[in-house]
Amino acid sequence: MKLKNYIRTHLKDFEAYSSARDDFKSCGKVFLDANESPNNNGLNRYPDNQSSRLTTLLAKDLQLSKQQLLVCNGSDEALDLCIRTICEPKEDKLLYFSPSYGMYNVLARCNNVDSIEASLNQDFQIELDKLEELLISEPVKLIVLCNPNNPTGNLLNVKAVLNLASQYECFVLVDEAYIEFCPSKSSIPLLEQYDNLLISRTFSKAYGLAGIRIGYCIGSEPIITALSKIQLPYSVSTLSQSIAEDAVQNKSYMLAQVRSTVLERERLSSTLQDFNFVRQVYPSESNFLLFQVEDAKAVYQYLIQQGIIIRNRDQQAQNCLRVSVGNSKENECLINALKQYEKEKSTVLR
Ligand code: PMP
Repeated sequence: MKLKNYIRTHLKDFEAYSSARDDFKSCGKVFLDANESPNNNGLNRYPDNQSSRLTTLLAKDLQLSKQQLLVCNGSDEALDLCIRTICEPKEDKLLYFSPSYGMYNVLARCNNVDSIEASLNQDFQIELDKLEELLISEPVKLIVLCNPNNPTGNLLNVKAVLNLASQYECFVLVDEAYIEFCPSKSSIPLLEQYDNLLISRTFSKAYGLAGIRIGYCIGSEPIITALSKIQLPYSVSTLSQSIAEDAVQNKSYMLAQVRSTVLERERLSSTLQDFNFVRQVYPSESNFLLFQVEDAKAVYQYLIQQGIIIRNRDQQAQNCLRVSVGNSKENECLINALKQYEKEKSTVLR
């Protein structure tokens, strides 16, 4: 795919804002270029606009080149940059699947890009023949996949979608927000074969750093350059960069957290299955569980009354609730409240 033809027309020869700091970073000694305060309090200077140290560390960790990575202000920023770079408003369409992460639709609307919501089948999988029909009949320029998918927790067949999308000159953005919970399923190895593949990731989930707002986008060098041109200058703070650098350097801490979350998830999953009002607990490759109950609204409201907040996903998957895996104490609170719900329900029925 010749990339130049596939980014939005007005961005093809777009010149990004250039800061003198970027141009003279290596040789400058006295910086009087950015109207900052001269009083050194450790944060008086703007952040490193390229998040250079963090990018280098991530590149090494993921065995990618630095040019294949763009650090962003949360992975939501990465998703937004991809849509804004690739989709011409009111011309190109974005395709996403349902149930999935609600921001794909919100970001498309923010950018005045029409979207198509295709349904996953009963097993929460993509139906390839229906996808092909859509690609034939609609001007889809970007397909967004969430892998593992939120809120269903399962993996999708990314490679088959990429094969199809490549035939229709369409980009595939794989949102890997939860991939650290099943790292061997990442689409990174597919980058060699597909230059229409983009991947977004985040520090908000497995790394346990939702508060620092750091995500990143992975793709071929030309598309990453195109995304970086429209990113707002200094969008990732100095403090956040430094915390994320520490986190990557101490990755074993994240890996241990992932292991303990997975153990808790399996414990919670088998406990949920034992409730008689729970119809099904779906298998999960992530840090949350989707489960189907007899009456999602009733369970959801009951938990709110107990001060326990989960998500009611009934609109997307009938009578389904999504719960994040908490620590053992939080999960115990949830289980106790559900036991109470079961007890009260059986008393009413008697
Ligand atoms: N993708 C998915 C699938 C998510 O669930 C979320 C947040 N819940 C995000 C992206 C956004 O992550 P971030 O905090 O990096 O913006």
